[in-house]
Amino acid sequence: MTTRILLLGGITEALAIARRLGPQHVYSLAGIGRVPQDLQCQVRVGGFGGAEGLASYLREAGITLLIDATHPYAAQISRNAASAARSAGIPCWALRRPAWQAQAGDDWREVEDWAGLIEALKPFRRPLFTLGREPLQHLDEIPPEQFWTLRALEACTGNARCEVIGARGPFHIQEERTLFQRRNIDVLISKNSGSVATEPKLEVARDLGVPVLILKRPKLPTVDLELAGADELLVRLAL
Ligand code: NAP
Repeated sequence: MTTRILLLGGITEALAIARRLGPQHVYSLAGIGRVPQDLQCQVRVGGFGGAEGLASYLREAGITLLIDATHPYAAQISRNAASAARSAGIPCWALRRPAWQAQAGDDWREVEDWAGLIEALKPFRRPLFTLGREPLQHLDEIPPEQFWTLRALEACTGNARCEVIGARGPFHIQEERTLFQRRNIDVLISKNSGSVATEPKLEVARDLGVPVLILKRPKLPTVDLELAGADELLVRLAL
């Protein structure tokens, strides 16, 4: 049987894999980021309608292997992928980046959820949020003694207690240091994405003695095969 892959993208490594896929394969994107126009494989943009919608798609498109290369915090699509592959009777592989590990000199404090984060943030005044757009829903809750800097993919309007800056990685150590110093950042808030492209902020936090509040990784479903990086996956696919 000819292999037909559905690759669920969302991280840089997924695009590297998609670049190696031929025209019988499909690269799927949620539709919030850039859509590449120069791939040999087919590109599909937008959701499937939950696990059931994805399972129907897998059957109708004759997909024989599902690869989940979404972000480690995109837990819903990962759950849908594992469940849909099971009901369509095909294997599900996942690219699961190893988490960053604290090093000597780091002051990392893991928080469970948004409520835990707000509690842990109380002693600080000038946080830098690097969690994406979620904090935008909480701008009215910023205490008067805090001023938030939010970094997201796109800049947008904040309020008197918050500035939203837009920037896309990869980030470099010197520009990260300048950002921390110009804004007097006294705490960094981050997911544990494990991405090389966003890691320099952690090095700057370590150097400057700035604590880091890390949002705990969500629990992801068990899959047939877990791979830590694109190279390993491409070897398994013999591409
Ligand atoms: P999520 O909560 O796990 O997924 C929400 C819904 O988005 C899914 O149920 C699915 O819709 C659709 N979706 C997600 N990834 C898709 C894909 N590759 N192809 C088609 N549909 C997809 O995800 P999220 O946290 O909102 O993230 C959305 C996308 O951005 C993901 O692909 C993720 O990899 C990427 N991303 C997320 C983060 C993050 O911090 N969460 C960071 C960087 C990139 P249906 O149920 O309709 O199928």
